[in-house]
Formats: sequence, structure tokens, C-alpha cells
Amino acid sequence: MKKADVVIVGGSAAGPTAGISCRRRYPDKSVILIRKEEKVLVPCGIPYVFGTVGSPEKNLIPDALLDKNGIELLKGEVVSLERDKKIVSLADGDEIGYDKLVLATGSQPLELPIPGLDKENVFSVKKDVAYLSQMLDTMNQVKNVTIIGGGFIGVEFADECRKHRDCEDCSVTIIEILPRCLKLALDDEFCQEAEDVLVERGVKVLTNKKVESIMGDGKVSGVRLSDGQELSADMVIIGVGARPDTRLAEAAGLEIGLAGGIRVDRHMRTLGDENVFACGDCAEKVSFFSGKLSRLMLASIATGEARVAGANLYGICYSNPGAVGVFCTVIGERAFGCAGLGEAVARREGYNVVVGQSAGPDRHPGSMPGAANVKLKLVFCKEKGLLLGGSASGGTSIGELMNLIGACIQHSVTAYDMAVFQMGTHPALTASPIAYHLVNAAEMAVKAMK
Ligand SMILES: Cc1cc2nc3c(=O)[nH]c(=O)nc-3n(C[C@H](O)[C@H](O)[C@H](O)COP(=O)(O)OP(=O)(O)OC[C@H]3O[C@@H](n4cnc5c(N)ncnc54)[C@H](O)[C@@H]3O)c2cc1C
Repeated sequence: MKKADVVIVGGSAAGPTAGISCRRRYPDKSVILIRKEEKVLVPCGIPYVFGTVGSPEKNLIPDALLDKNGIELLKGEVVSLERDKKIVSLADGDEIGYDKLVLATGSQPLELPIPGLDKENVFSVKKDVAYLSQMLDTMNQVKNVTIIGGGFIGVEFADECRKHRDCEDCSVTIIEILPRCLKLALDDEFCQEAEDVLVERGVKVLTNKKVESIMGDGKVSGVRLSDGQELSADMVIIGVGARPDTRLAEAAGLEIGLAGGIRVDRHMRTLGDENVFACGDCAEKVSFFSGKLSRLMLASIATGEARVAGANLYGICYSNPGAVGVFCTVIGERAFGCAGLGEAVARREGYNVVVGQSAGPDRHPGSMPGAANVKLKLVFCKEKGLLLGGSASGGTSIGELMNLIGACIQHSVTAYDMAVFQMGTHPALTASPIAYHLVNAAEMAVKAMK
């Protein structure tokens, strides 16, 4: 029987990151990573397969990453885990022994209780090269695409579908049950702006609408809404989120939490077995802010947890601070992002909120090539001026702006700290130092706190 010091199950965002973290901390430990796919997709790049990137084959995580870090790759499905013997078994009958095990088995698309999901040309968003290739072939042949779900996956699919299908009589429709697209991530003014951009780009947006069933005789012909309306469609994409894949852990008797993930402590150890760790979408999460269960599933959280798990395998080095939630998306040329709590969520959670806002170009002067107008809103807790969150729309600079805000939240930065940040600037690269968005918005909040 083959054996390694560390066995990792899962080859997407969390698995390789846990392996690299382990090898950096414990270079003398052997690591085997087992994953079921022949080739692994960049999960966040999946919507771009249908437009910008053009095919699943152009959206892969290179295996060279594992080799470079001294991690042995084994392709196969782990079908069982015997914790007493410290063995995992593969579908082909092979057994692999471990000293420490990391479960990074990820998530599966949520299944909606809607009749008709089994009809031809109805797809969910699976992280699977062959499935996505078939989905792309179908998209090339159809005219009317309906997307169920207006969260970031649905919105990104819709925008990419428009790019891909530049024909006059083609349509792309989003159906969202909530009053706004992206509502779970962004405050209303940003949701409204995002919907406006979608509509400008030719996407039909139907909010406050629930799909009751999928129509068609064998092949999909449309969707029926709960208000009785029927919309024709020759392809339906379900983009409503994911649930933790805990099948292996559950069968091995590991504890599953109330939000459906594998229960772990702050060091990413499963409860009840200190030799088994879990990280990424399959692991239970708590909010950075409240410690309450969190259902956020993001690559930022998955890789953060994986770094903690990998480093803690042979002694505690790091603690998981909880899910902050740093999120970005882009529709056409306009990017939207949020880190931490939006204003509405912060108020709902009971914080006494102060908001600071700033708007202006992200280059100086604003006539510099590539400049985009940024709108930034920072949310602080009034009592101590603690940063709770930030939301923004703008150009490509939004991505790193959200990361900066996320790091500030994680390190308990206040409006008073931010108001005196010394931000590096350059005309072709950043906003003006006189009106730097982050500092400006913090100053506005300090003024409002007086
Ligand atoms: C369309 C889409 C777009 C997204 N965009 C973003 C984004 O822009 N930003 C962001 O932060 N997040 C985004 N996410 C979320 C992000 O992709 C996930 O949070 C991330 O993939 C989680 O990584 P993971 O490794 O925990 O799980 P997964 O990516 O689900 O990977 C699980 C791995 O485990 C393997 N596995 C599972 N069971 C077994 C078994 N029994 N045997 C062997 N192998 C097994 C799987 O094959 C896979 O390799 C997106 C998700 C989707 C679906």
C-alpha cells in the first residue's frame, strides 16, 4: 500500500494551496494530492469559457504547480475513508495510507426543487471540462438563453452569453427571485447600477420572479413563473449557488455543521479527529464579524483556510479569522465589488453605522487613458470608527481596492487610521493623491462621526 505523510483530497483552489502551505512549512513531509478530474478548471473562470476565454481547455489550473512544489498528483476518486486505519480508498481499489489528511472536496451546484430540470438543454454550473464543453456546444446552437439566478455567477454568465452571441434575434434573460440582482452581495444603489449595465448590454432582467417549472417535451421550450407568465427558452442555465460536498466526511463519521459543511475548529482541524483537517467550500464557516455560521463560498476564503490547514498539520501556526467576504465581478467594462459588510447588512446586524463616500476617476488627470469613474462607499461602526465594509463600482482598479479594504477589515483598521494613510500615486496608475478615494471616504466618515 502506498503511503504519504500528508494526503490531500481535492485538486481545485483549496487542495493545492493546502499542499503548498504544508510543503513550505514542513519541507521534509511527503504530500500526495488526489483529485478525481483529469484536468482542473479555474473555477472562477468558468463563466468566461462562454465568451472571453472561449473554451474550457483555455481555463485550466496547470499541474506544473504541484510538481514545482514537490507534491505528488494521483488522479482518481476517493470513495471511502477509514479513520481508524488512516487509509483512503480509491474507486479503482487502490488504498493510500496517511499520517495527516486534508479534505478539500469543495462544493456541488445547488439543486432547485423545480420540475423539469432533467430536460435536454437544462444545465447547472459544474466544474467539469466535458460538461462545460457540451454546454458550450449547446449555446452555439440556441437562440434564447434563460439564466435562473441573478447572483454573481448568473450575472457573469449572462454578460458572457451576450458577448458570445452577437446576433440580433438572440436573447439572454436573467430571472431572479429577490428584488435585485447581486442583492446578497451589494447595497441597492450598486445593484441598480449593475442591472442598468446588464440592460444596456442587451440582457433582459426579471427580478422578484420565481421559476415554478421548466417546460418542454423532452427538450426545454421555456420556463413558467409563479405568476403564471411563460417565457420561451431553448437553453436554461441554473446559477443559484452551491452546497458543501461532505459525502466522504459524512460517511466516515465526521461531524457536519448546521450550514452543511464539515465542522472544524479555528485551526481547520475537524472536530473529533485531530489528524483530519478540512478547508475550502466543504468546510463549515463562521463570519469574521459575528462568529455566526456563514454560507459564503469564495476562492479567497477557500485558499485562506487552506493556508491555515497546511501550516497547522504538524503544530499550530495560524488561526482562521472567519469569513470576511471579499467579492468582485465585472459586467462589460464596469466592475462591482464588496468587502465585508454592506451598509444594509451592517444595519441589520445591529451596528450603529456611519458611511463615508467618494467618487472620481482612478487616474489623474481623469483624461489619462484607462481612467474609470469610481464610486466608493465605506461603512464604519460609529462607536470606535472601526471599518466594517466597503462597496464600489468602477474599472479594473476595483479588484485590488476591495482586497485592500478586506485586509484593513481583517486588521481592525479605523476611519481615523485610514484618513491619514499615505497612498502611493502615479497619474497613469492611481487616483489623485488629493482625492484618493479610500482616504477621502474615510475623512468623510470621520467628519460624520463628530
Ligand atoms: C462559476 C463560478 C464562478 C466563481 N467565481 C468566483 C470568483 O470570481 N471569486 C471567488 O472568490 N470565488 C468564485 N467562485 C467560488 C470558488 O470557485 C469556490 O469557492 C472555490 O472553487 C472553492 O474551492 P475548493 O477547492 O474548496 O472546492 P472546489 O473548487 O469545489 O474543488 C473541489 C475539488 O475536490 C475534488 N474532489 C471532491 N470529491 C472528491 C473525491 N471523493 N475524490 C477525489 N477528488 C474529489 C474535486 O474534483 C475538485 O478538484 C466561483 C464559483 C463558480 C462555480
